Amino acid sequence: MLGFGGSPLGNAFGNIDSGEAARCVHAAIDAGINFFDTSPYYGAGLSEERLGHALTSHRHQVILATKCGRYGLNNFDFSRKRIFRSVEESLHRLRTDYIDVFQAHDIEFVPLQPIVDEAIPAMRELQQMGKVRFVGITGLQLKALRYVVQHAPVDTVLSYCRFNLLNTQLESLMPLIDEQKIGLINASPLHMGLLSRNGGPAWHPAPDQVKQTAAREVAGLEQENIDAAQLALQFAVEDRRIATTLVGISSPTEVASNLLALESEYDATRIDQLRCQLQPVRDVIWKSGLGENCDDGAVAPSNTK
Ligand code: NAD
Repeated sequence: MLGFGGSPLGNAFGNIDSGEAARCVHAAIDAGINFFDTSPYYGAGLSEERLGHALTSHRHQVILATKCGRYGLNNFDFSRKRIFRSVEESLHRLRTDYIDVFQAHDIEFVPLQPIVDEAIPAMRELQQMGKVRFVGITGLQLKALRYVVQHAPVDTVLSYCRFNLLNTQLESLMPLIDEQKIGLINASPLHMGLLSRNGGPAWHPAPDQVKQTAAREVAGLEQENIDAAQLALQFAVEDRRIATTLVGISSPTEVASNLLALESEYDATRIDQLRCQLQPVRDVIWKSGLGENCDDGAVAPSNTK
């Protein structure tokens, strides 16, 4: 299953205008995509605003996921009071009266016990009130996701850059997720752009060696008229332990290309070759958030956003 990643609608990967943002959403709906993810953090509300506008008269057709707790690069607030205000702000921007999947955004940036003791219970209260249907968490550091899953009731976990051609470490979390009957959302199948011909944005935190190796392999495939993004998507969606894979969308052309990847025959040979070529930089992950929440072996990021 492929879902629509809404961070590009907030201009996270370069500016797109409002008309193009709406065309992306409509192209996705027309193509049968019915899961949309956004956050108040993406473009300081712009992504939610654009998604809400584009979904007018389509709301009933889609599953809508947004987040709470992260509002800026270093602006986090997972208090009950802020979460209650946040949901109202999101409902307003998204032009709806309920959110399907409400997620605590990037939990590794704060101490985890208050996520367990205050944030998740507050989100459950909102569920009781009918404002949200399911409650989840998101983040990069698997250790942080694991801790919260083990100590609080969550319906979904969104992990990013941890299951694609450059990283499969999410596998270590899958038995727990399966045991607890949690819906697993795998974001960033293109490793936030590195596995595509456009490459990643300037703020991409991966170490330079990862970026350079990925760019070299993507360019090599281009020479043979092979689109690395299509191979990367095929690899990510193949794993049935994952409920939904979220790819960021910046144009209707990307919607078409990504669906074509899913419809094309799985190119096991090419995918295996590419994974071998990427082997020296596979499973390299960078630190994010509080040091105590980072996974063992995480390295210093090359940039911070
Ligand atoms: P991604 O790996 O999906 O890559 C997105 C980039 O690739 C964008 O620049 C996009 O325009 C481009 N792209 C998409 N299809 C392409 C194609 N066919 N050819 C060339 N380029 C293509 O990374 P992402 O957007 O970070 O992740 C997907 C979504 O997951 C996000 O938009 C967001 O909704 C969610 N997410 C959540 C978190 C979190 O909660 N902490 C973190 C990361 C991502």
